[in-house]
Amino acid sequence: MDERRIAARFAGFDQDGNGYIDRGDFYAAAKALLAEFEVTARCDKGQELFAGAEAFWQGMAGIADVDGDQRVTRGEFVTGAVKRLRDSPERFAEIARPFLRAAIALAEPEQGDGGVAVAGAERVLRAWGVESGVAAEAVRTLDGDGDGRVSEDEVVRGFALYFTVPE
Ligand code: CA
Ligand code: CA
Repeated sequence: MDERRIAARFAGFDQDGNGYIDRGDFYAAAKALLAEFEVTARCDKGQELFAGAEAFWQGMAGIADVDGDQRVTRGEFVTGAVKRLRDSPERFAEIARPFLRAAIALAEPEQGDGGVAVAGAERVLRAWGVESGVAAEAVRTLDGDGDGRVSEDEVVRGFALYFTVPE
C-alpha cells in the first residue's frame, strides 16, 4: 500500500483543515450536504445523515485513533488506514456505508432503487470540496455500466478504491 497516497487522502477528511480529523470534520461534511440540498438537520433525512456521520467517525476512530485522544493525526490515519486496507478494503469501506446511504437519500429524494443519478453524486462530492473535474471523473468511474446511475454498493466500493487507486 502506498502510504503517500493515503496521506494525501487525509486532507479530504480534515474538512476544516486544522491538521487532524475529529468528529467535527464529519459533522462539517454532513452540514455541507444539508446546505447543498437545502435540508434541515431536524428532519428524518438530516438526522440519518448525522447518525451516519457519527458512525463513520466512530469507525474511523476505532481504526486509527491509537492514543484515544479523539483526534486522528496524519500519522495515525496513515498507520490505521494502511493496516486496515491491507486486511480488507471492503471492510474498511463499510464504516462509511450508513453515511453514504444517507447522502444518497439526500441527493435522490425519489430513491426507487437505492441508487443515485450521476449528477446527484457529483453534487455530493462538490459539496465536500472535491474539485468539479475530479468529481465528474470519480462518478464516471463508479458508473461502470454507464447507465447514468450509481448504486449504494458502487458508492461504497468507490470509497475503498479511493484509497487504493492512483489519481
Ligand atoms: Ca479537522
Ligand atoms: Ca489520536
